[in-house]
Amino acid sequence: MTTPQEILSMLGDEKIKMVDLKFVDMPGTWQHLTLYYNQIDEISFTDGVPFDGSSIRGWKAINESDMAMVLDPNTAWIDPFMKEPTLSIICYIKEPRTGEPYKRCPRVIAQKAMDYLVASGIGDTVFFGPEAEFFIFDDVRFDQTANAGFYYIDSIEGRWNTGREENPNLGYKPSFKGGYSPLPPIDNFHDIRTEMLLTMADCGIPVEKQHHEVATGGQCELGFRFGKMLQAADWLMTYKYIIKNVARKYGHSATFMPKPIFGDNGSGMHTHQSIWKNGQPLFAGDKYAGLSETALYYIGGILHHAPALLALTNPSTNSYKRLVPGYEAPVNLAYSQGNRSASIRIPLSGTNPKAKRLEFRCPDGTCNPYLAFAAMLCAGLDGIKNKIDPGDPLDENIYELTPEVLAQVPSTPGSLELALEALGKDYKFLTEPGVFTEDIIETWINYKLHTEVNSIRLRPHPYEFSLYYDA
Ligand code: GLN
Ligand code: MG
Ligand code: MG
Ligand code: MG
Repeated sequence: MTTPQEILSMLGDEKIKMVDLKFVDMPGTWQHLTLYYNQIDEISFTDGVPFDGSSIRGWKAINESDMAMVLDPNTAWIDPFMKEPTLSIICYIKEPRTGEPYKRCPRVIAQKAMDYLVASGIGDTVFFGPEAEFFIFDDVRFDQTANAGFYYIDSIEGRWNTGREENPNLGYKPSFKGGYSPLPPIDNFHDIRTEMLLTMADCGIPVEKQHHEVATGGQCELGFRFGKMLQAADWLMTYKYIIKNVARKYGHSATFMPKPIFGDNGSGMHTHQSIWKNGQPLFAGDKYAGLSETALYYIGGILHHAPALLALTNPSTNSYKRLVPGYEAPVNLAYSQGNRSASIRIPLSGTNPKAKRLEFRCPDGTCNPYLAFAAMLCAGLDGIKNKIDPGDPLDENIYELTPEVLAQVPSTPGSLELALEALGKDYKFLTEPGVFTEDIIETWINYKLHTEVNSIRLRPHPYEFSLYYDA
């Protein structure tokens, strides 16, 4: 724990000159405002720093735009990408008039979810461990021909091409789905990933490892230790920021978009989770795969609410291009020990009950981690409270089951629109505990429908030219 006094003592002409305040908007992107060091005082940590919230996506209307950013002293690190010595601090949002935490602030929602866990009496701590995969590209082209206004990387034809000009072509490329885990020179992102990992360590994240991922050319993953819900979400935001900026330094760009290349693996954000009480892990027991009954009910809750949950954990139209058979991404709502084709996997954790956890494999890096973690916890707790039976585990390779068997297994929704529709019908597990409000659910559904689902639907897709131009 860091105190405001400790932060204030770091500031001064000779030391930290600027303080960069970061906060997360509804869609899950960081926004920032940078202050000269002498603008920060003790009040900044209680009442906050005023700003205009009217132009932040999904927030206040122009006629009631006053907001305040309250600094969380536990989130400070020196921003390695800013030229002058700059202290970065993550904030939550407050209504300056009432002094209340702002209901639509994602960090406030995550805090409410943690408070709900305690109030439920079920546990006192929830750990999350997200593994967000990403691609590094160098050449992203804007394609205006279809009036699409977005870029793509030869993903239309599914050509095996990373968008990288190779002159001459040196021949050292991962083979199709062979990205995991050849050595350099085939893995030509090794040093960049190491720099990303070491930068994360400098920013206080407990880093663990880095590796190339399965997809051809530039799919990567870095690992850091699990943390308490709010901290894990803060670390994930920092992780994405560092990855994008280190990639940029090398003239590349990094994307967490779930399915940038047709016909190759997409990028997931598998999320490990476990609940503890009084220092004891609640998910270890003598049931299937060494789980406790509590853990099985938690799984039951996640699987039961999954169609609605995915509107928050997989909230982009592109998310549903990843959740298809054949690419190590989950398609069926089932759980299994070790089986990576199930949407919930129970990783081998040896004999240590403290390592017992479940891995929900659906989420992807386009989620807002604060909302996604809060929603997963609510779904799991609903399962525990209502003793939702998760059914039998599915230990075969789900991709190879006969159609008859497969027909019994429910699937992930086929599109963002269907997930939003499911959320519109099934949101009480989020609102009844007082974590989300109906206003947030409504805002989320409308925002996603209008800004994303319909925007994509109304635009001619480049691939439509290939199908219909010569019709
Ligand atoms: N990329 C795969 C997904 O979409 C996961 C691959 C892995 O980590 N084994 O979930
Ligand atoms: Mg991993
Ligand atoms: Mg992975
Ligand atoms: Mg994983």
